[in-house]
Amino acid sequence: MSLGNEAVRRLEKFRGMEKAMVKTVSVKCAKCGQEIFRYLKLSDGHLWHCWKPRIMRDYSVREGNVVKCPCGNIIGYDVGIYIKLRQKAFTW
Ligand SMILES: [Zn+2]
Repeated sequence: MSLGNEAVRRLEKFRGMEKAMVKTVSVKCAKCGQEIFRYLKLSDGHLWHCWKPRIMRDYSVREGNVVKCPCGNIIGYDVGIYIKLRQKAFTW
């Protein structure tokens, strides 16, 4: 078997895993429905944080470490490596 085929096989396996584990979710403001983040979520279960490297789109408004919707609703707090989300402030 050629090295080329092996590389393709590995890539297909990786793609399969990616499809199974990763999904893109929209984090939206609970008040006005505006999309705040497009986020790559790796597992099922509740959304507590948004890890910065996995934020694909960012429509938030920042005020220091406060992450807000353009409507003024406080979505969460920037604590460095991730955004700590305020529960009830968003839907997804
Ligand atoms: Zn809003």
